[in-house]
Amino acid sequence: MLYVVATPIGNLGDLSSRALDALRAAGTVAAEDTRHSGALLAHFGIRARLLSLHEHNEEARVSALVQRLAAGESVALVSDAGTPLVSDPGYRLVTAVRAAGFRVSPIPGPCAAIAALSVAGLPTDRFVFEGFLPARSAARRERLAGLADESRTIVFYESAHRIAASLVDMGAVLGVAREAVVARELTKLHEEVRDGTLEALAVWAADDENARRGEIVVVVRGAPEPERGGLDVQARRVLEVLLAELPVKQAARLAADITGEAKNALYEEALRLRPGT
Ligand code: SAM
Repeated sequence: MLYVVATPIGNLGDLSSRALDALRAAGTVAAEDTRHSGALLAHFGIRARLLSLHEHNEEARVSALVQRLAAGESVALVSDAGTPLVSDPGYRLVTAVRAAGFRVSPIPGPCAAIAALSVAGLPTDRFVFEGFLPARSAARRERLAGLADESRTIVFYESAHRIAASLVDMGAVLGVAREAVVARELTKLHEEVRDGTLEALAVWAADDENARRGEIVVVVRGAPEPERGGLDVQARRVLEVLLAELPVKQAARLAADITGEAKNALYEEALRLRPGT
């Protein structure tokens, strides 16, 4: 069995007892950084054989780990912090292990994205995880432009040295008035959860050097949903242009012909835009 084991994102008290059992029982612990995970295991008095598995050697490590499973060992996969595979290596290993006919079982636990969502106070019934944005501003803005109409809550990971610039770019592309939450150093001594508009958060991140320290998750409220039964943005625009020149009925009929939207919906919208006609 390959156990995919979540480890703390700061507070060591968050390592679950199932995680401890799996790490104790594992013949091999595959770790992103063996020194880092070695210190965690030592803290809990666990002496396991550690094998490095990171972005650059994952492909090469897969067969060695599958052989260990074939030899009857149980293997645990951990990352530096939180849940493996979430903006961390491991998915190639998981795919290969299952393809080789072995079971893969999760030991769930800390995950910075979920921890941030749980305290952000933004809708969580539907959300998207966007991981890290590109490091360069132009590429970052391009990625953000693709999210401008996203109505689900959006979760980003961000590094301390890019947070100020990223918040500026988010405001520029998603709108400065968009609500967001910056969750910093979760479960650690200097934990901070700050909400505000993207504009206010960008000012804070520029002014306060503490805002640019530690590990950070940014949670952004989604774009407002179009009104139920509301019109496509393009159809509304066509209607507005026609309404400037034509009577309501004619504008609605022409807009329906041009856009393919229902005439009734356009007529109702036209009446809303030009009440009393
Ligand atoms: N696998 C991890 C998880 O489950 O959250 C994430 C790994 S990713 C390489 C590291 C990023 O997660 C950091 O740059 C930061 O954005 C976020 N992160 C990790 N620990 C955090 C914490 N204690 N507080 C806030 N964000 C954190």
